[in-house]
Amino acid sequence: MARPRIRDDLAALEGYHSPQVDVDVRLNTNEAPAAPPAGYAQAVADAATSIDWHRYPDRGAVALRTAIAGLHGLTSGDDPAARVFCANGSNEVLQTVLLTFAGPGRTVLTFEPTYALHGHIARLTGATTVEGGRTDEFAIDVDHARAMIAEHRPAVTFVCSPNNPTGIVEPTDTITAMLDAVQAVDGLLVVDEAYGQFSPWSATELLAASDELPLVVSRTYSKTWAMAGARLGYLLAAPWLVAELDKVVLPYHLDSLKQAAGLAALDFLDDMEQRVASIVEERGRIETALDDLACTVWPSGANFVLFRPPAERGLDGDAVWQGLLDRSVLVRNTASLEHLDGCLRVTVGTPEDNTVFLTALREVLES
Ligand SMILES: *Cc1c(COP(=O)(O)O)cnc(C)c1O
Repeated sequence: MARPRIRDDLAALEGYHSPQVDVDVRLNTNEAPAAPPAGYAQAVADAATSIDWHRYPDRGAVALRTAIAGLHGLTSGDDPAARVFCANGSNEVLQTVLLTFAGPGRTVLTFEPTYALHGHIARLTGATTVEGGRTDEFAIDVDHARAMIAEHRPAVTFVCSPNNPTGIVEPTDTITAMLDAVQAVDGLLVVDEAYGQFSPWSATELLAASDELPLVVSRTYSKTWAMAGARLGYLLAAPWLVAELDKVVLPYHLDSLKQAAGLAALDFLDDMEQRVASIVEERGRIETALDDLACTVWPSGANFVLFRPPAERGLDGDAVWQGLLDRSVLVRNTASLEHLDGCLRVTVGTPEDNTVFLTALREVLES
């Protein structure tokens, strides 16, 4: 029997892979190491009892958007909510941006290696992707970026800062130079700040200064806010840009409970900031220990560390990854990805998890 054929442009595409393996220590997806504070679960439970479940959710998610604008100090104008767009995870945020500004016949530019879903969602939504490179330290070279933008005239250009999977934070000068370049080709710059809380600066500072910038800064509740299970992300941008996204996204896509959960989380800002501080401290401990084990380590501005085990031990990245898995420690295997030859990425976990990881790694390298 004949089966329906998927779109020709999707036929060769591979799905997104990130194995969900049952292990003692899971350090592969950059989640927060602990659940949100106990009071948070209670606040969400209380909110659930006062939701009008028979009604559609607030389509504009006004309370949530207003609170997020306040969180980022975007309070100028009479409608702060107009500067915020929320969706089911920042992946849906990015998908909506791409549906609105890219799509068939348009080009999307990424700088590899970076978050695989930028290119993936661009292709799913029909755009053509072009890949720029990075320096040996995994930074974006401004001249290279300018040249790529001028040549390919991308409708959307992605920067991930801190970059997943390398941890690199792009300096302000790089972002402003790229903004100038995309403006010259009527393009849009998307800065994915999924790990923004760990970074010394944020591109949201630029948004506060001007309403004319073709700039989107995306954030997520999945990492720092310890809410990967809730699927909630957002972006900050000028009101005219957010208005275009609101036309494209499916109506009522953000359910009432999620809106309440996102709002309640913001009452726990102090807890979140403490968690960020302790993760940053643990990150330093991991970086030092990896260095002591003769691994190559890239300085990280996020809640994970990219490293390359020493080649002279005769083990390649795959073998080290397997050795860790045999000891019930799961890290992200980036060893076979282009530009990341032999590298592994470890999420900063609880202090106990990190000690188990480091002990297991020492065993593997010395076996
Ligand atoms: C984890 C991550 C996200 C988060 O996606 P959600 O859909 O919000 O869970 C977005 N961007 C990058 C670079 C990430 O690493």
